[in-house]
Amino acid sequence: MSDIRSVHTHCPYCALQCGTRLTVERSGVAVSPSDFPTNRGGLCQKGWTAPALLETPERLRHPLVRGTDGELTPVSWGVALQTVATGLQRIAGESGPEATAVFGGGGLTNEKAYLLGKFARVALGTSQIDYNGRFCMSAAASAGTAAFGLDRGLPFPVTDLARAGTILLAGANPAETMPPLMQHLTRAELIVIDPRRTATAEAAALHLQPAPGTDLALALGLLHIAVTEGRYQADYVHERTTGFDTAWTRAVSWWPERAEHVTGVPVAAQRQAVRMLAESERSYVLTGRGAEQHSTGADTVGGFINLALALGLPGIEGSGYGCLTGQGNGQGGREHGQKADQLPGYRLITDPATREHVADVWGVLPGTLPGPGRSASELLAALGTEGGPRALLVFGSNPVLSAPDSAAIAERLADLDLLVVADFVPSETARMADVVLPVTQWAEEEGTLTNLEGRLLRRRRLLTPPKHARSDLHVLQGLATRLGQPAGRFPTSPREVFDELRRASAGGAADYSGISYERLDAGEALHWPCPAPTVPDTAESDTAGMVAHPGTPRLFLDGFAHPDGRARFQEVEHRGPAETTDTRFPLWATTGRLPAQYQTGAQTRRVPDLTEAAPEAFVQVHPDTAQRCGLDEGLFARISSARSSAVARVYLDSSLRTDTVFLPFHFPDGARANLLTQPARDPRSGMPEFKVSAVRLEAVPEV
Ligand code: SF4
Repeated sequence: MSDIRSVHTHCPYCALQCGTRLTVERSGVAVSPSDFPTNRGGLCQKGWTAPALLETPERLRHPLVRGTDGELTPVSWGVALQTVATGLQRIAGESGPEATAVFGGGGLTNEKAYLLGKFARVALGTSQIDYNGRFCMSAAASAGTAAFGLDRGLPFPVTDLARAGTILLAGANPAETMPPLMQHLTRAELIVIDPRRTATAEAAALHLQPAPGTDLALALGLLHIAVTEGRYQADYVHERTTGFDTAWTRAVSWWPERAEHVTGVPVAAQRQAVRMLAESERSYVLTGRGAEQHSTGADTVGGFINLALALGLPGIEGSGYGCLTGQGNGQGGREHGQKADQLPGYRLITDPATREHVADVWGVLPGTLPGPGRSASELLAALGTEGGPRALLVFGSNPVLSAPDSAAIAERLADLDLLVVADFVPSETARMADVVLPVTQWAEEEGTLTNLEGRLLRRRRLLTPPKHARSDLHVLQGLATRLGQPAGRFPTSPREVFDELRRASAGGAADYSGISYERLDAGEALHWPCPAPTVPDTAESDTAGMVAHPGTPRLFLDGFAHPDGRARFQEVEHRGPAETTDTRFPLWATTGRLPAQYQTGAQTRRVPDLTEAAPEAFVQVHPDTAQRCGLDEGLFARISSARSSAVARVYLDSSLRTDTVFLPFHFPDGARANLLTQPARDPRSGMPEFKVSAVRLEAVPEV
């Protein structure tokens, strides 16, 4: 352990990024919540127990290479990195650079995400890079960009929500996924849209319980009511938006009775929801994964943004639209080059000016940068196929559990010539790898993350990492130099990487050029965009007429980010899920999270208190449905879709719809919820359809 005894840092898990103080005590590392604005002294069970992750006996401590006997065997770093580099060179030599691919993660720091994107495009020369955030927030990102010209999960500070009168939560369950957020929602009357009666729905003034896959129909119905009942803000729509008339051509036929017929939400409840939003002085519309993880995800979010625009909410202080981003660095992770179609600064890779600027920062010619690659699930599905990548490097992700139709993805991974995984625990994907690279974890490293409100945060190091663990930045440099790159092009100092990221992002939507470790360490609350100091000095400073940009906690107050300053209504129409229920698969399965687990559970399943709180996979079933299927509480059920089957214990829940079952997605092996999910993708964002799969239930003997 280092001689640093205490640091202020942030929880390693979700995008709320609760502030914590970590202290080295005689008994180990202790955590306490800090009075950071997002958590104000609160932490959920995952945050309180996070230090246990630092002591997990399953920690990867040596690089591993799979030998001719099929076993992963400890080797030196030199051997491991050379094995990877030799394999990549051989495959690129035989099939071209596009045969090599990279898969990143929304938990990686900004520095890692940035260097990973640069490594793929410069050291490998491949366009084949994407990341697991595609499974998390991509639909909201696409819809937000289309509507506002810019996507930032919450375009206002979390603390603004504390003054709200009404908040519509479409497919979001913060009471269980990010409990400290709820303290900001106590003043508001909540409207929750969710097929399940979640803890958030329990706390709501109004719970709308649509059939899975009908969220967009409900959004269209709510817009219809807002307009036909005169709740529509004509002056706002006229002055600050375009496209209403076109959007209305779709919504006009969504009479509330039709919306009730499709969604199952009673007309009176629809009307009440619109009335609550329209009559409150401060209203917000927030979306979460429940609305977003559909093959119509971007259109569905677009439908809710249309509603918010019609009610005149976005771009007004004290109201608005936002997306509750899920992963710890889901926001920053999507801004700096991990996405298949983007370069740092949250800019399109196809934009000539962006290519020129970023190539200049990287010291390469713009023409050498590849174009856009495949989105995450397209990339995973192409692995090992004719013309698809033959080698994959995975950083901070566990696609064997997180990808849809995961049995097929496991087969694709098994077909690779080279699978390399950098992680600090033996995730299910790492167990399949040819080479495993043990890396540092949160309290052992420095860096920055960007939370769900676009605020930059410092991750600080408390502990010296285990002897043979290296930071991902060191791994990238080690590989890049073996692939012929100069070491200086791939720095290993997080501060140095961040300074380069600042230059690369300059002028982009997510402009970090005015943000520095020094400013963050001084306690400044900096939300992007924060350009380098070019703001005319109107205060006391005499520094050549310039002062540091204060950052942008609230976006769009003076206009939206489209060239004309106006927000765009989106022309969206309801389409059902990509598959339908039938006599073979008569039920809907929907998936989600538990309070005591996070993502694929690769980390949280290794924390004893969390394992005790959420020990096993289950399928939640309405008692009537269970009876029809010959099931009862505690028995095991086989849940089958057209893809595969999972087996899980039955938990009865009479608040569920009788046509719907629920499975948490944190658990491995035969209980993987994503064995059931379908590969259908949203054409606008690449988001898979995680929330709706047609399934059947059968009793199975005790397993
Ligand atoms: Fe906060 Fe999220 Fe960590 Fe829970 S998991 S303590 S809500 S950052």
